[in-house]
Amino acid sequence: MIPFNKPYMTGKETTYIKDAVRFSKISGNGQFTQKCQRFFEERYGFKKCLLTTSCTDALEMAAILCNVAPGDEVIVPSYTFVSTALSFIRQGAKIVFADSRGDHPNVDADRLEELITEKTKVIVPVHYAGMACEMDKIMELARKYDLLVVEDAAQAIDSYYISPATGEKRPLGSIGHLGTFSFHETKNIISGEGGMLTMNDERFIYRSEIIWEKGTNRAEFFRGEVNKYGWVDIGSSFLPSEIIAAFLWAQIENIDQIQHRRKQLWNTYYERLKFMDKNDLYLPTISSYATNNAHMFYLVCRSAEERSALLTHLKENGILAVFHYLSLHLSRFFEGKHDGRKLTNSDMFSDCLLRLPMFYELGENDIRKVVESIKSFYDGRKSSF
Ligand SMILES: *Cc1c(COP(=O)(O)O)cnc(C)c1O
Repeated sequence: MIPFNKPYMTGKETTYIKDAVRFSKISGNGQFTQKCQRFFEERYGFKKCLLTTSCTDALEMAAILCNVAPGDEVIVPSYTFVSTALSFIRQGAKIVFADSRGDHPNVDADRLEELITEKTKVIVPVHYAGMACEMDKIMELARKYDLLVVEDAAQAIDSYYISPATGEKRPLGSIGHLGTFSFHETKNIISGEGGMLTMNDERFIYRSEIIWEKGTNRAEFFRGEVNKYGWVDIGSSFLPSEIIAAFLWAQIENIDQIQHRRKQLWNTYYERLKFMDKNDLYLPTISSYATNNAHMFYLVCRSAEERSALLTHLKENGILAVFHYLSLHLSRFFEGKHDGRKLTNSDMFSDCLLRLPMFYELGENDIRKVVESIKSFYDGRKSSF
């Protein structure tokens, strides 16, 4: 069976974990945590990074930092992972779900303005498959209506947005006021569970460390800036242990190699399937303002029925492909809370999007096998008509 995902280990993870154990510093905010944070700050220009135990936690921190409270509205795409909405719901927000574009699961930035009311506080663009949303348009709306933008960049490490206006190329997660990343084992760079919050607006930096450390100013104390620390705000235990950060450091050291290989695999899929695009199926489109970090290789089938038949066909051929999100506005949790608007593109991707195996150790032969199997599926359909 070709699995859908296989976490890649660089080989140094246990070495660094042993180091952390030897240093006898295994709680959070030690050497490895600081090394990881500094790396991301320097490479991508985030004003401040904090490792978290997950992207979900980073989103919860973001919701607290934005002072989201009952009565506030937060605009979130319906086609996303539960956490994007859940973290704001926990602060009492009302979620207003936005539809996807027709040509991409990313939120349709041209249809966001109609969702903004006096109560809107935050917009949360999700960079699906690591490909950028239209950030110029979203940041312009934020300026016009005085909103905050939290980028859910869970899938978007090492990917960029290229401004159509200025040509400037900026890392995803560095454009909104806050950004969140995931190092879950299904992402490009991993630590099992893990995540990161990025601050791109200085206003948030001081408070972020306090929220991170259970509402205390402990980080300030350890830097020697105050001579005792105590309870100063709300917060939680959002910081990961040094064991996790040590693991992550091994991954970070190999980020270029990992990204290079994933892009090679992605391009191989694309080249081999290209002849079927817009004919039997739809391949991902990469907009001129987005780069591809090869987080995922998806295709879009013409119907739910066809997708389910293709998934079965692939499984019979020893290939584990999977579908992805189910529109959150139709979820069991949210059903009764939605305002009834139809989100047809989100529903279409829920029904028709399919993800192919994509991981560092996937071989060229595996890809050949997947592509052959997809071809044989569509050949079979044609001959049966
Ligand atoms: C993976 C993912 C998350 C959640 O990440 P965790 O680290 O597992 O909490 C949130 N949003 C998106 C878009 C994701 O892909």
